[in-house]
Amino acid sequence: MTTTLIRDATILTLDAAERIFARGHVLVRDGTIVAVGDDDYAGPEVPDRTLDGASRLVAPGLINAHTHSQSSTMAGFGDRLSHPAFMWLTQAHTSRRTPDEIRLAVLLTAWGLMTSGTTAAIDHFPGQRFTAADMDAVLAAWEETGLRVALGMRFFDGAFSDIFPDAPLPDALRDRMAQVEILKPQGVDELRDLMTDTIARWHGRAGRLSVFPAPSNPDRCTDAALLLCAELAERHDTGIHTHLLETRRQAALALEKYGETAVRHLETLGVLSARWSCAHSIWLDDADIDLLAARGAVAVLNPESNARIGTGLARAPEMLRRGVTLALGTDGASANDNMVLHEAMRAVATSHRAGEQDRSRWITARDALRMATAGGAAALRRPGLGTIAPGAPADLALYRLDAPWWVPLNDPVAQLVFAETGGAVDTVMIDGKIVVENRKVTTFDTQALAEEVRAMTRSLRKRNADLFDVATEIAGVVP
Ligand SMILES: [Zn+2]
Repeated sequence: MTTTLIRDATILTLDAAERIFARGHVLVRDGTIVAVGDDDYAGPEVPDRTLDGASRLVAPGLINAHTHSQSSTMAGFGDRLSHPAFMWLTQAHTSRRTPDEIRLAVLLTAWGLMTSGTTAAIDHFPGQRFTAADMDAVLAAWEETGLRVALGMRFFDGAFSDIFPDAPLPDALRDRMAQVEILKPQGVDELRDLMTDTIARWHGRAGRLSVFPAPSNPDRCTDAALLLCAELAERHDTGIHTHLLETRRQAALALEKYGETAVRHLETLGVLSARWSCAHSIWLDDADIDLLAARGAVAVLNPESNARIGTGLARAPEMLRRGVTLALGTDGASANDNMVLHEAMRAVATSHRAGEQDRSRWITARDALRMATAGGAAALRRPGLGTIAPGAPADLALYRLDAPWWVPLNDPVAQLVFAETGGAVDTVMIDGKIVVENRKVTTFDTQALAEEVRAMTRSLRKRNADLFDVATEIAGVVP
């Protein structure tokens, strides 16, 4: 047993009573919060370790409910690209990695997440067909980081048709695109074996890892594969993670394929439930929104990614009003260049304001923070995450209150959402263990990682030259 006491800190509990303590304490035993109060700890336990919380805000760790570890090397790439050109550029950067390269991309993601106050995430991985070795590599790497992670085993068993542009393409280019082996669908039987095996070996590992079936996108999958997801999720009590209606074209493809919207099709199949967390959820009509609310499915909004690549503006105020559980994600670095969830909170609370005259419909800082905590907990299916209360998992971030945007301390919630950059994060605890201390990651060597990532990027440039060529040509055809 290990106990840690944080004392003399400002504590934002986000508990049921939304209490804030000016000079309080948090006591953690092993991975669980056991005591919280607005005074000094006076109980019988002698802590193994005491953290001085003076001039610190202790807040629940944030939950990034949609990212892609594989694209962590892509910050700064592909400004003003069409969606198909963007998708191919991402393929060029993220395909054909060795297990060690998969690990490096995870560590780079974790570095960005943890040092900006995020303690849990959903990794939608990979973007291509996968093997058991790929899943082992990505999950072992997440275990090494110390983060709490749901790994969405991303697959498609139908045509990846929305990465083929509408515009006419030269025959030679179309042939080359069709030949890319890594984008050929995986059959349902193979997927059943792979996913069952990965769940059996990894789901629940260390109390921090979970494994979800994860369609790349419902309309890139057959009905049989969607039914398989529901069956596996029921049998093993997992979530299901997916992209959903990110682009207008995906909405049109779904209508064409199903004769109804993608959301209504999930309902028709009988699979829509609270197990689903659906990234983007932009091109929804009112009936789709009501269905998500009625089934308890979580919409994971990615406002910065959507703005960066121009896919649309999710109807967040409408979804909130109609009772949909909302969570937040950064998306991968190819679509949103850093892992700072504070920016996504700020974006979701502000991006609709200029177009909404009725201020009572605006998303508040409190709403946005709830998405990044309780909403994320619903997506990860870990109730209790996102609060500082006895019995909750000990996932905490400590922010320095001597950063300029915290002077003076006016409203911790509004300052976390509207002011914080991630730069005031000082210490991070996940499952009771300190994973960031004095702004430095303690679970792996970030300097060595940076060198290895640079070398890997050079190597992949050569290895995936054919894919880079296709991406460049598509950007020429569909600018
Ligand atoms: Zn995504």
